[in-house]
Amino acid sequence: MSAGGRGRVAFYDTKPYDTASFEGKSAKSGLEFEFHDFRLSASNSASAQGCIAVCIFVNDRMDRDCLEALAGMGVKLVALRCAGFNNIDLEAAAELGVLVVRVPAYSPYAVAEHTVALLQTLNRKIHRAYNRVRELNFSLGGLVGFDLHGKTVGIMGTGKIGRITAQIFRGYGCEVLAYDPFPENKWADENKVSYEKLEDLLAYSDVVSLHMPLTKDTFHILNGETISQMKDGAFLLNTSRGKLVDSAAVISALKRGKLGGVALDVYEEEEGVFFEDLSGSPLQDDVLSRLLTFPNVLVTAHQAFLTNEALNAIAETTVDSIGRYADGTDPVEERVVGL
Ligand code: NAD
Repeated sequence: MSAGGRGRVAFYDTKPYDTASFEGKSAKSGLEFEFHDFRLSASNSASAQGCIAVCIFVNDRMDRDCLEALAGMGVKLVALRCAGFNNIDLEAAAELGVLVVRVPAYSPYAVAEHTVALLQTLNRKIHRAYNRVRELNFSLGGLVGFDLHGKTVGIMGTGKIGRITAQIFRGYGCEVLAYDPFPENKWADENKVSYEKLEDLLAYSDVVSLHMPLTKDTFHILNGETISQMKDGAFLLNTSRGKLVDSAAVISALKRGKLGGVALDVYEEEEGVFFEDLSGSPLQDDVLSRLLTFPNVLVTAHQAFLTNEALNAIAETTVDSIGRYADGTDPVEERVVGL
């Protein structure tokens, strides 16, 4: 089948790594891809004219106006190339008969490995050493870290990513405590991980790492009160969702020395900041600005997923979903996002 024989798909908010991971799949899929670097919204939705589907990311605004415009042009499939779907008006999509699909899982290893990389960078001060050595400063002052071996790590949320993170820490020789309302007891026994009550996990862990979804129950689960239950000088890792953590409480704990280090790949107000090059303009977010001033805070801009393997898995699943839609085949149930 020639490229494009099954229909055209418009991609939005694309970066060079998106284009690279999807481009190679066009010919084999029989789908034609066009890549836009701008985000999809009602005002530019005419760009999807003639397409069978749009493929979007976390910051494209799929509100009712945009969905109505798409449906009016006969575009009835929205494929998210990510797991989260909080940027879509699902009620409007259902009313308009627009099918929304996502990638529920890609590489849990990518996120778990990035979590541990952040901790070790912060703990062993690799980022500071890198800059120092490049300036021919070979002194070691201020670079003292700690052995992970023998330390206690608390994993909050033992789903796909949390379990792999726990196993990596077990490999370092850490004690691993876990907290999850739905414990995986067989896995815990096999890996010598011990489920605890939240207050005990917080009280005994040298490092606490968050791996649960953002829900109304987990919003600001790390707040002034729960941080006060943590060990003095403990490290906090969040590669999950920004709103799990009350950033103001974290800043206060850092100022008091209550937290010894904080590594974040997500931030509660990251929308419009993360993924963008804002280096030429003043940062408007005072909380993020303050966080970035601490020498014991390390922030990456939601890049934990960014490996070749994860990008390839995202592209494979997304192209498969769009191909099924083009053929009229039933979508894979776990990928469909509904109310
Ligand atoms: P998952 O669904 O496999 O696991 C989530 C786990 O959290 C489940 O075991 C669930 O029982 C548990 N949980 C639910 N409520 C909880 C609570 N109140 N306290 C403790 N645990 C609770 O999800 P996953 O694939 O492991 O992903 C985990 C998180 O990582 C997600 O929130 C996702 O958004 C985030 N994530 C981040 C990136 C990134 O690039 N930074 C990439 C992918 C996923």
